[in-house]
Amino acid sequence: MWSGPTTRSGGRILALAVLALVLTVFVVKATSTRGAARGASAPAKPAGPPAPARTPTLTARYRLVGCRSHGVGAYLHGPRRREVAIGFDDGPSRETPAFVRMLERSHTSVTFFMIGKLVSAPYKAMLLRELRDGDVLGDHTFTHPDLTRTVGVSAQLEQTIRAIRSLTGYAPCVFRPPYGAYDESVMRTARSLGLATVLWNVDPSDYLQPGTGIIERRILAQVRPGSIIISHDGGGSRRQTLAAYPAVIARLRARGYRVVTIPQLLGFRPVYVPCSRLCEGMGLPRRKVPHDAVIEEAP
Ligand SMILES: [Zn+2]
Repeated sequence: MWSGPTTRSGGRILALAVLALVLTVFVVKATSTRGAARGASAPAKPAGPPAPARTPTLTARYRLVGCRSHGVGAYLHGPRRREVAIGFDDGPSRETPAFVRMLERSHTSVTFFMIGKLVSAPYKAMLLRELRDGDVLGDHTFTHPDLTRTVGVSAQLEQTIRAIRSLTGYAPCVFRPPYGAYDESVMRTARSLGLATVLWNVDPSDYLQPGTGIIERRILAQVRPGSIIISHDGGGSRRQTLAAYPAVIARLRARGYRVVTIPQLLGFRPVYVPCSRLCEGMGLPRRKVPHDAVIEEAP
């Protein structure tokens, strides 16, 4: 534009004006860059390296396939941070969908310790929904025996992993022994299958149906930083438990607690793999995959 011929004086004035404008912009820019370096709030473009070139749109998606436990021994609680985790045992049951809806309304993710023989096709959509919500699926054995009096501990745990994985594509990394009954051998077997043994240190005995108010008060009286709370979404009517939790969650948050899943509480990382066809509504773009995730190659 500058080098174009100017046939009229108006054109020359215009050209000079443009030159002045260019110079002004240059000066302002130089000044404001220095201003930014001093921390001034000049309306300059931010200092630092230039933005990287836009990468072409990636079509790859990733789905959650499990989590990675670590540590030896059984966990009764997590680190003494202002975090708590809730585990619901003995499902899936016909009451579990109401728990899922309650948790969605409360914007809360929990860990469901499931009995393998109950994990069946009619629950598939609900379990995928739990995973999409950020809930975690855990192993609570196949038939709920006392593992310290059972042969075939490995089969109890493995069959449950298989049931959950075949329905959802997700393999659990946390295990809760029925009745809290475990020993060194049970823990070792669990560990060999990638499962951490997880107990609890807050127990409102909700399975005895003591009343909604009592469940709520017991939890709030026992909870400490890093607590793991046990409750139940299966094995009988869980109406009281379901009714207690919105207030429990609200009160915990009012006390400054973050409610997290058990793997989050214990620092176990989620595992994702690329998926193309079999995402089942679970596929996430790379930017939505959690920062702490382990990304493995597709099997
Ligand atoms: Zn149980």
